[in-house]
Amino acid sequence: MTDNYRHKGLRKKLVETVRQKGIKDETVLEAIENIPRHFFMDSSFLEFAYKDKAFPIGSGQTISQPYTVAFQTELLEVKKGDKILEIGTGSGYQACVLAELGAKVFSIERQKKLYQKTKEFLPSIGYRIKTFYGDGFKGLPAFQPFDKIIITAGAPHIPEDLIKQLKVGGILVIPEGTGGIQIMKRIIKLSENKFETQEHGTFSFVPLLENKAND
Ligand code: SAH
Repeated sequence: MTDNYRHKGLRKKLVETVRQKGIKDETVLEAIENIPRHFFMDSSFLEFAYKDKAFPIGSGQTISQPYTVAFQTELLEVKKGDKILEIGTGSGYQACVLAELGAKVFSIERQKKLYQKTKEFLPSIGYRIKTFYGDGFKGLPAFQPFDKIIITAGAPHIPEDLIKQLKVGGILVIPEGTGGIQIMKRIIKLSENKFETQEHGTFSFVPLLENKAND
């Protein structure tokens, strides 16, 4: 896999597009500029890698739109050393953006094929992400608590277990809603049972699947 001047040039343009759409956090924009997004897609889709669009990655799933990745990441207010749980590993791109920002990333995927593909792929491009095969609704009880939690699929409701696994003072970002449209919510855990919920516009994600046999 090569990352040449053409790719870097296309990435600079992509960063400008994302900036113009309202992303202000320079560290997030820098992470997008640093990561070769075309590595995360099949080579035949190379020309699409630097468009600000979601794209199919197999198994009926998508790599999120760069703007959406930037938006969710900005809401998380990532700090170096943050322990972050991601639900929906997919291509691994979002996880790498978090790792670029200095986070320790744990990520869960429920599609076995995708899990295996991404688990092998991420170390090959130099990222150390702890990937898990399982149901994101349950989180990772053995590794809790987390400073931040990000859900990268449209959730029908806010998973109770994930709220429990968030540190007091922690932030959870989740697109909530069914029927192809979700409201981006940011939940700040003020104390064990007190929360502040903010709404940050509408988005469209593939669904977060609950109680389904793994495929
Ligand atoms: N973060 C990804 C985009 C993921 S798309 C990226 O950067 O490429 C959403 C992903 O969530 C899909 O891969 C889908 O299989 C996964 N998913 C759906 N329901 C899930 C669940 N209950 N637990 C874990 N992953 C789930």
